[in-house]
Amino acid sequence: MGRDSRVRLLRILVSAVLLTAAYVTVRSITPPMWAELLLYLPAYFVVGYDVLWEAVEGIREGSFLNENFLMAVATIGALVIGFLPAAQPECAEAVFVMLFFQIGELFEEIAEGRSRRSVIGLMDLRPDRASVERNGSIISVDPDAVTVGEIVVIRPGEKVPMDGVILDGSSALNTVALTGESLPRDVTPGDTVLSGCVNLTGLLRVRVTKVFGESAAAKILALVENAAENKSRSETFIRKFARVYTPAVVGAAVLLAFIPPLLSGDFSVSFPVWLHRALTFLVVSCPCALVISVPLTFFSGIGGASKRGILIKGSGFMEALARVGTVVFDKTGTLTHGVFRVTAVHPEVCDESHLLHLAAHVERFSTHPIAVSLRQAYPDEADDCSVTDVEEIPGQGIRAQVNDHSVCVGNAAMMDACGVQWTECSHVGTILHVTIDGVYAGHIVISDEVKEDAASAVSALHHLGVTRTVMLTGDREEVGRHVAHMLGLSEYRAELLPADKVTEVERLLTTRAKDRTLAFVGDGINDAPVLARADIGIAMGAIGSDAAIEAADVVLMDDRLMKLADAVRISRRTIAIARQNIVFALTVKAVILILAALGYAPMSLAVFGDVGVTVLAILNAMRALKS
Ligand code: ADP
Ligand code: MG
Repeated sequence: MGRDSRVRLLRILVSAVLLTAAYVTVRSITPPMWAELLLYLPAYFVVGYDVLWEAVEGIREGSFLNENFLMAVATIGALVIGFLPAAQPECAEAVFVMLFFQIGELFEEIAEGRSRRSVIGLMDLRPDRASVERNGSIISVDPDAVTVGEIVVIRPGEKVPMDGVILDGSSALNTVALTGESLPRDVTPGDTVLSGCVNLTGLLRVRVTKVFGESAAAKILALVENAAENKSRSETFIRKFARVYTPAVVGAAVLLAFIPPLLSGDFSVSFPVWLHRALTFLVVSCPCALVISVPLTFFSGIGGASKRGILIKGSGFMEALARVGTVVFDKTGTLTHGVFRVTAVHPEVCDESHLLHLAAHVERFSTHPIAVSLRQAYPDEADDCSVTDVEEIPGQGIRAQVNDHSVCVGNAAMMDACGVQWTECSHVGTILHVTIDGVYAGHIVISDEVKEDAASAVSALHHLGVTRTVMLTGDREEVGRHVAHMLGLSEYRAELLPADKVTEVERLLTTRAKDRTLAFVGDGINDAPVLARADIGIAMGAIGSDAAIEAADVVLMDDRLMKLADAVRISRRTIAIARQNIVFALTVKAVILILAALGYAPMSLAVFGDVGVTVLAILNAMRALKS
């Protein structure tokens, strides 16, 4: 539970105790109305001060018809109603209603905090240990325990624990977790290193310049936390509902207080009666069952999904998932494993092994699945070749200086850009053309396997009513057609650059049906902008880059595509349960409101009747946790 939630829980508990104490006191001594009000006020303010404050803020900003305003008006109405002639005091109900509202908020907060923390855990920015030099020996401590000016030692393969300046050693740093930039950065003594980067090649001694709490990694973690918070809280169901419900109820109450007395002809006699009814109407209008059960339903739904390895970063994305009509896939690493096998080598100027050797070296620092596969197939990293001046062109290829030769590896577009004549290949597969010092040296054919569950996942989506399934790839037309056909996708586009993928998704966004949404599924290599652009960005958690996991709205932890259909099903079920609760709560509420307007419903009965509805709605909401 986060700090905010703990504070809220504490307030709820303290207020409940104060409420009980006030209630017992009032029952035993039956004080006058003003004393009763004073007895209940502490409990009321402890639990409700932020709601009151936000209602005031809302009025100042001119957008006051929100749930805070409704809560404030209704509860203040209940607090003061006892001053009217012949009216019962309703202070306890006012506190009770506010308590219910805060419990609903608490559930929502916990649900979102939980999925947010899992996401941050996945990003894995936080270093676990730091090796610090103390009294001549190196000891391993918690990064929080290292102070500015101390010296930490970072071995190859370790995460940089603190921000600092290099004293000894040079190395390459993988900064992708911090910047999304996949090229390693070379560092030498005097350079700054940032926490969260991974030290790739050399041993470093670093003098710490910032304590962990102020480090780059800690700041980014805070940023992600806030981003997720803003995104998911902006469009909650309760807020949307309040925009319509609040003005309707407040308007009705005002009419109720004035119109019947005006029509009756004797205003001064009937006004107090109708004012009482109007205030009762306002108080019972608080949709407690709704306010508590809808967030709880989403809480359960998000929790149930995360148990199955699906992280959904907010209730808004659940609603969007339930209405998904178009699913767009990236190919490499999403529909396919992203593990390439070399299936043919066609050299033109040197021998096969030399061509492979050069290609694997150029790819030494890339995180692209092609690069990882080539390195694994030809792991001659220890030889004396030097690889410098690496430049990766997203969606095309990569070039670098290997010993004294400039070597370029990439697809046909890359060759055209270099102005080199390339040879067409008849094999089906991804073609890596290679040039050495600007001369065409031949090509390597590699191929990737589609995931075993990809075809069944696509057909499951079609069964769920997804009408368009589209694959976008930077790979060749032949490969695109082959994969799309094999998986039963409804459309595909090939030979796209990363920017083309954004354009394509934007085009699909404008042509989709209005009430249906578009989801993009990718691994984040070259496609983080598309993830952010789609209605729902879905990232692969295991293979995906940290940038993608951050940009995404939904994360599939184990990369299994079948989880997509599960996510849609869980979302639909959750929405259905939320809807049942809404209909049930509003129907009962409508009946009580009519009774209150006609003067048949005493306030306590109305409020406690609501408790029954709430309990049933909560039990129903819990069903969303199971699948
Ligand atoms: P996809 O759209 O299938 O995920 P990308 O957009 O990442 O693929 O890449 C498109 C094409 O660009 C690849 O099929 C490959 O031909 C070429 N390419 C991209 N990165 C590299 C690299 N690091 N080395 C060689 N070729 C690359
Ligand atoms: Mg890709």
